[in-house]
Amino acid sequence: MVLIAARCTVCDSENVVKCGTQSNGKQRLKCKECGRTFQLDYTYNGARAETKFSIIKMSVNGSGIRDISRVLGISPNTVLDVLKKLKIFLSMSTRNMQTLTLDKK
Ligand SMILES: [Zn+2]
Repeated sequence: MVLIAARCTVCDSENVVKCGTQSNGKQRLKCKECGRTFQLDYTYNGARAETKFSIIKMSVNGSGIRDISRVLGISPNTVLDVLKKLKIFLSMSTRNMQTLTLDKK
């Protein structure tokens, strides 16, 4: 028997339990710290956390959406979804920073 130490892809916690299977039979895991569910091995490249970091890195370095999708082997819609979520996250964090700076005055 081989023991694989699973870590949460969001908060990097080791407090992870099994949480059912996907329709393709792959094990789904749940983090008891943050409550997110995830898989250790994804069939589609676009669902992997490393791919999302690569999308952000490539877009910062000036690559276009079609260029990123071709290089990473994922759909252009996946690239757009990741960039839209990043834009929402950045707008929320800048809004929080503005309220923090306003509170300090
Ligand atoms: Zn977590």
